[in-house]
Amino acid sequence: MSDCLFCKISLKKIPSRIVYEDESVLAFEDINPQAPVHVLVIPKKHIPTALELTEDDNALIGHLFQTANRIAKEKGIENRGFRLVMNTNSESGQSVYHIHLHLLGGRLMHWPPG
Ligand code: AMP
Ligand code: ZN
Repeated sequence: MSDCLFCKISLKKIPSRIVYEDESVLAFEDINPQAPVHVLVIPKKHIPTALELTEDDNALIGHLFQTANRIAKEKGIENRGFRLVMNTNSESGQSVYHIHLHLLGGRLMHWPPG
């Protein structure tokens, strides 16, 4: 998608602080971190929201979570705990319509979220 911010980041047309990359996913530091660890994990494939996921994406979504786990371990927060969030549509606060998993950690998380 030519006009998608995260497609541009995945194509390196816009710089980001990359944490992990392979053929199907990219992880980079959130530009406006909400916790000491705030990494976004995205598929390179453009999928606007979780609602557009199909059976064909099952392995990709599994890989997205595995990647988040890997980064949580690399950052040393796996035992303390962390939060994985995927906002969907406007009331959730989704602002970029290319799915992304927020990996948040390094501080006490509250529940319910705001
Ligand atoms: P959401 O509101 O769930 O769609 O999350 C979008 C996230 O993208 C927000 O946490 C933003 O801070 C983050 N963001 C927006 N632009 C950039 C950028 N250029 N590089 C890194 N993160 C970004
Ligand atoms: Zn995109």
